[in-house]
Amino acid sequence: MNKWENIFNSLGNTSIGKAVRNMESFYEDTDKALREFSQKEDIACPPGCGLCCFRFLPDITKLESLYLAAYISVSERRDEIQRRLEGAKEQKNGPCPLFDSTKEYHCMCYQARPLICRLFASSCFPGKNGERKFSRCHLNPHFKGPENIIEGDCPIMGDYGQRMISIEENDSYTEFLPVRVLKDIALIEYYQKLSTQK
Ligand code: SF4
Ligand code: SF4
Repeated sequence: MNKWENIFNSLGNTSIGKAVRNMESFYEDTDKALREFSQKEDIACPPGCGLCCFRFLPDITKLESLYLAAYISVSERRDEIQRRLEGAKEQKNGPCPLFDSTKEYHCMCYQARPLICRLFASSCFPGKNGERKFSRCHLNPHFKGPENIIEGDCPIMGDYGQRMISIEENDSYTEFLPVRVLKDIALIEYYQKLSTQK
């Protein structure tokens, strides 16, 4: 059993354990839809870009935070990540504290990254007449993807946001990533400790 599976087990059937497993399943579905759409439309970021993570500081919901905190709690770079989050609590602009230019996708927690980081430049929004418009990345002129209207199926950013906030235990309230995740790392570790004492 790897460390990631271990944390699911240690959180067991607690409300947090269920919430983290629900997020895992939601992210798997989301990633599958985004992957298929990106392949169909030939969407690709230039290698080594990462400008979005350099300029962005996400606000996140309760379950995005718990999922990310669970991931961080078993990361080999846990202490370094915690220091970065502490240092970013008062930050007003990017880079995101999880940005790491040496990592392949520039994120220290890529597997557990928030929803907006998955949807950005990989999804669409509805136009005035019901058409689906691709939300292009304008940060890098070498970004590759459709210019505008999408024919056929396309993941809509707002729909995924709605789906996420309607997952049991989640809500629409968002908080600044470093502040929220630091509280949730402590919470996850408290639950883990309880489970080892049983
Ligand atoms: S091309 Fe845009 S979406 Fe892709 S990594 Fe660069 S800034 Fe981010
Ligand atoms: S969480 Fe990761 S993917 Fe999202 S902005 Fe931060 S570094 Fe980028």
